[in-house]
Amino acid sequence: MAVAGPEIERLIALLAKLPGLGPRSARRAALYLVKRREAVLEPLARALAEVGERVSVCSSCGNVDTSDPCTVCLDATRDASTLIVVEDVADLWALERAAVMRARYHVLGGTISALDGFGPEDIGIGRLVARVAEGEVGEVVLAMNATVEGQTTAHYITERLEPTGVRVSRLASGVPIGGELDYLDEGTLAAAFTQRRPFG
Ligand code: ZN
Repeated sequence: MAVAGPEIERLIALLAKLPGLGPRSARRAALYLVKRREAVLEPLARALAEVGERVSVCSSCGNVDTSDPCTVCLDATRDASTLIVVEDVADLWALERAAVMRARYHVLGGTISALDGFGPEDIGIGRLVARVAEGEVGEVVLAMNATVEGQTTAHYITERLEPTGVRVSRLASGVPIGGELDYLDEGTLAAAFTQRRPFG
């Protein structure tokens, strides 16, 4: 039975689609919002509309942002000779939160998975190889999740990059087997980066 009008019920249904929110917490969030119309609800609605209008995928690295190239790619103070390869935008954001390296990124948007029928070109590995072949990159850090798919993808990328002569390294221990970067605490992430080692 509906406790509110269709507009609020629609808000609840949309909030319930967010990660980590079920129907129950979506109701709580909706109530919180409608009770704080000026302080939270209206600024949030404006922020959502603005981001919705302007968000795009960075044509250089695959990050999502309101500018293309993205804020990270436009940042001239970053070390352009180091390229960190991640599976997902969430990993890029996690590494930035941990502030491990002020480098550039390459977001694959997935992993090679025979099971799901994802091949190397579905995740843009050709784009990565082309980017490295331009010659500005001296080291590629493979910051993949410690899952079977992540490691398969890392091996494949290493092989494909071999002709370019670029140095390829991977994260050190600290990333647990099966571990996903987005869930690691910042100290563990930073340690995995500083102790990275040559791939092989
Ligand atoms: Zn970018």
